Amino acid sequence: MERSAIITGGSSGIGRHLAIAFAQAGYRVAFTHRNDESAAAEVLAEITATGGHARAFSSDAGDAACVTAFMEEACAWFGDAPDVLVNNAGIQTWAPLLELSEERWDAVIRTNLTGTFLNTREAGRRMVKAGKGGAIVNIGSGCNKLAFPKLVDYTASKGGVEQFTKVAAVELGPHGVRVNCVAPGAIETERTRAEAPDYAETWGRVTPLRRVGTPRDIAGPVLFLASADAAFVTGQTIWVDGGVFTQA
Ligand code: NDP
Repeated sequence: MERSAIITGGSSGIGRHLAIAFAQAGYRVAFTHRNDESAAAEVLAEITATGGHARAFSSDAGDAACVTAFMEEACAWFGDAPDVLVNNAGIQTWAPLLELSEERWDAVIRTNLTGTFLNTREAGRRMVKAGKGGAIVNIGSGCNKLAFPKLVDYTASKGGVEQFTKVAAVELGPHGVRVNCVAPGAIETERTRAEAPDYAETWGRVTPLRRVGTPRDIAGPVLFLASADAAFVTGQTIWVDGGVFTQA
């Protein structure tokens, strides 16, 4: 039977590639976005052109009512609880702690951490009720290994995601629902390229594998954690960073 996957933030960057990779792996994919309808339509077109099944939903990851409504609609389309949830939607900007506004802090925590909680709760309730287990993969961040100046809101949110993963894994494990985290290092996406045109060169130079990461590098480990090959893996974080945050 066709397996189903929910990807939050699937209209660009890593999430876009995840939606395509899951569809190519034979999953029926429901992905969310917040603003960019045309980017979501492009992802859908790419998936359907290769015979995949996907639907795009506009749903703010940090808004409880939105998440509940989205989850209802997506599960009605699947005809069952989801097999997989990937909490990928995230935002990041750079600001020194003493200049960080409450609005910015709230937006980052709400999207990255509260969004992970809300989607996990809604998908988790349905997975447990359906009694068929499931896999949840949260996208953290490699930068949690270091103390990055000007990223206090972002690293606080991603540190929260990593710890959230462990507790959720312990609570949901008895129901056969596994919860893991993938922490990417420097990944070249449109967003990171726009932030710094020399992003690939700068990070490639200091990464032990001597290149910057791509969204494809993230999709493999996420697909693995979602699969039966990872049936005894839960509560873990896989660092997918080319070794950059491992070195001192
Ligand atoms: P992008 O900005 O390219 O894509 C973010 C996606 O999330 C978009 O589809 C966006 O949709 C969606 N999104 C943003 N806010 C919300 C929201 N409130 N509700 C629903 N969807 C939302 O980001 P990346 O691909 O670079 O990052 C993806 C994830 O990977 C994030 O969690 C990020 O923190 C993490 N990460 C990325 C790294 C990198 O180097 N790129 C490194 C480490 C971690 P829309 O455009 O419509 O708002």
